[in-house]
Amino acid sequence: MERTYIMTKPDAYERGLVGRIITRIEEKGFKITDMKMMRLDENILKEHYAHLADKPFFPEIVEYMTSGPVVGMIVEGNGVVDSMRKIMGPTDGLEAMPGTIRGDFANNKSENLVHGSDSVENAEIEIKRFFG
Ligand code: UDP
Ligand code: MG
Repeated sequence: MERTYIMTKPDAYERGLVGRIITRIEEKGFKITDMKMMRLDENILKEHYAHLADKPFFPEIVEYMTSGPVVGMIVEGNGVVDSMRKIMGPTDGLEAMPGTIRGDFANNKSENLVHGSDSVENAEIEIKRFFG
């Protein structure tokens, strides 16, 4: 069965939106097969966001992502990787359509509430990274 790695970000925790994000996953019919709350450090963020580690705004991402707890989940289902990206909406909450998580709850492209793997291959790498 296809799997993806979903992670609520610290702003979702701070704003009390973790439950609503989980509800959207469940309403779609996907199964959460593992879940844990964590505090991330800079080292794991350098791995997880390796494609952004050279960007000038990377320190802000680290500050944001270490500002509170994240909730990591393994989510299973047919086509779950692409479907969850659609349910989340694109990176920038102002571009994301209403009805998506980011479209409904985010208004910028940094604090956007949720992470979801962008390919089946990366999903397996991320699940290993966060769940071992
Ligand atoms: N990000 C940011 N500014 C940018 C691009 C990305 O703050 O210009 C942050 C944002 O939180 C985003 C994360 O870095 O979700 C990872 O970026 P990516 O391009 O992988 O977007 P995603 O896959 O999360 O939509
Ligand atoms: Mg990404």
